[in-house]
Amino acid sequence: MPGQDEMVRIIGGPTTLIDTFAERLGSSNIRTGALVTEISEDGPESITIRLDSGEMITARRVIVAAPLRVVATTIRMPWAPPSLIKVMRETPTWMSSHAKAVVLYDRPFWRDTGLSGRIASRTGPLVEVHDHTCAEMKPAALFGFVGWSPEQRQSSPTQLKQEILDQLSDCLGKAAANPLKLVIQDWATNPRIVNELDLTQPGSHPNVGPDNLREQYLDGRVQFAVSEVSERSPGLIEGALAIGERAAIDFLRTVL
Ligand SMILES: Cc1cc2nc3c(=O)[nH]c(=O)nc-3n(C[C@H](O)[C@H](O)[C@H](O)COP(=O)(O)OP(=O)(O)OC[C@H]3O[C@@H](n4cnc5c(N)ncnc54)[C@H](O)[C@@H]3O)c2cc1C
Repeated sequence: MPGQDEMVRIIGGPTTLIDTFAERLGSSNIRTGALVTEISEDGPESITIRLDSGEMITARRVIVAAPLRVVATTIRMPWAPPSLIKVMRETPTWMSSHAKAVVLYDRPFWRDTGLSGRIASRTGPLVEVHDHTCAEMKPAALFGFVGWSPEQRQSSPTQLKQEILDQLSDCLGKAAANPLKLVIQDWATNPRIVNELDLTQPGSHPNVGPDNLREQYLDGRVQFAVSEVSERSPGLIEGALAIGERAAIDFLRTVL
């Protein structure tokens, strides 16, 4: 498709990237499922992070890597200037109101007839479909972006699945109607990713955000490193990697 010539895929999917980083950090240095509710200054040397369980964690440095709108509305940051909170609220989280469908098959049957599995459509629920088959060819899969609104998706989930299979059958043949599995991942239902403003405002690809998103706060002890902060490819995985690398370099400068 136009503009997608240089797209690449990661063998094993993006999870492989996360697992590789996580392995290097060591599991004892990672906490998951820990919801942050407050980041506050605790004297000149340390920062206190409060979790929703009531637990407090003390840190010398904090890198905030959660969606800016979600942070601005759900994490208390008494030190944050109003101009920063305003910019954070104004920065959409790219694609956060969208959903993806993944359809698994035992083999990529569409390739038998020379079809690529790529679809661009305005007539079914999936507006764009790609061949998502893994490198080992098993399972075979297609994934597509769902064009229905969040309200439609959530009010008619069974109809959505049926219409997806009908659409794939129309495009790729009857075998598409009998997948091993059909999974819909709907980010619009995840309050840690999507914000009320994302659901009510039209989504567009983010421009590079203002400089105050990339400034350091509390004498360099707090900075932001979610994808939308990046000057390179904001909103994309590449942006998340770029801003993460920059935050890591800034951090190492202060400790080495
Ligand atoms: C439907 C969809 C399709 C996309 N397609 C593409 C694509 O094809 N190519 C591409 O490059 N990018 C794509 N993206 C964008 C890509 O997923 C993001 O750019 C990337 O995930 C951003 O990574 P991140 O680490 O900056 O933030 P995220 O991956 O958003 O991670 C932020 C984390 O912060 C957590 N969090 C939120 N609040 C709190 C809290 N209070 N306490 C603790 N944790 C919290 C969240 O649970 C989440 O795990 C897509 C996004 C969506 C939604």
